[in-house]
Amino acid sequence: MPSPELIFARNLSAELKKNRLRRKERMQTREGQAGIVVPPNGLSVDVEDYYHAEAFADRIPRETWSQYPSRVVRNTHRVLELLEEAGARATFFVLGYVAKLEPALVRAIQQAGHEVACHSYMHRRVSTMEPAEFREDLRRAVSAIEDAGGQKILGYRAPTFSIVNKSLWAVEILAEEGFLYDASVFPIRHDLYGFPTAPRFPFRWLCRGGRSVYEIPPTTVSVLGQNLPAAGGGYLRILPMWYTRWALERVRNREGRPGVVYFHPWELDPDQPRLPGSFKSRLRHYRNLPLMAGRLRELLRSGRFVPLKTLLEDCLSLGLVSSELRVSEPGLLSDS
Ligand SMILES: [Zn+2]
Repeated sequence: MPSPELIFARNLSAELKKNRLRRKERMQTREGQAGIVVPPNGLSVDVEDYYHAEAFADRIPRETWSQYPSRVVRNTHRVLELLEEAGARATFFVLGYVAKLEPALVRAIQQAGHEVACHSYMHRRVSTMEPAEFREDLRRAVSAIEDAGGQKILGYRAPTFSIVNKSLWAVEILAEEGFLYDASVFPIRHDLYGFPTAPRFPFRWLCRGGRSVYEIPPTTVSVLGQNLPAAGGGYLRILPMWYTRWALERVRNREGRPGVVYFHPWELDPDQPRLPGSFKSRLRHYRNLPLMAGRLRELLRSGRFVPLKTLLEDCLSLGLVSSELRVSEPGLLSDS
């Protein structure tokens, strides 16, 4: 019969061994997680003025745009300063209308080391246009932006994420016009846009004639089978900051993917003139404007941010662009 001391010593030794094993397991898991390379987050800015925003599209006819005092140059320079301060680089999707009136702004964005891409010419939703109108607006925008900056445009973002199931023909046109990537598909349900059945992470659209276009969706989190938007525009400005932090960490740590953030220069301008609009539109556009600069600073401190073209290259080199979808396949993404 072993003495109580011996039993105690054996138990202690067994307990210590178990603890050692548990610690080793924890370390391995940690090493495993640290071993996964997740590219830096993508950052994007839709360069438009406060009166171009969708919230007022029904009250501010495009023919009257020239009557409004423009604040886009000043606001975009605020964005450039903020990004410089944080050492972040972004893709600026510039409205062709802005590039035409303010070509020096396009050059300033490029000279600061950012990518310039296209946000259409007249800020019309793709889903309200005919294919020929879309192509015309696109070409007009590309020539205004390329004339201003002298560099080839590779990326496109539709106003109000308006490439949805019924306007998928636009992806074929983007491929024909030589675009490398699109960032207009938001895999959520929303009253104005949304493509809830689209993949949540970068993928490739296979188009006619062997062409293709990469798609870079903004960040969403999947909760109980529903995709929730996060970390962009109104979601970043209106929802609590803990939600944004949680969403980006969840995507990075659980899913091993980079986040994709977007915002607008007018979101950093609390003093912009107030425009008429419905209660919902005014809430979406004006809420928390004074908080936006602080929120962006906090966000940019949380990690590295790169242009979407860089994010795409990183994802391609790490094998993180796995799914391919054929644009022409009927019923492929029928639930939108
Ligand atoms: Zn826009």
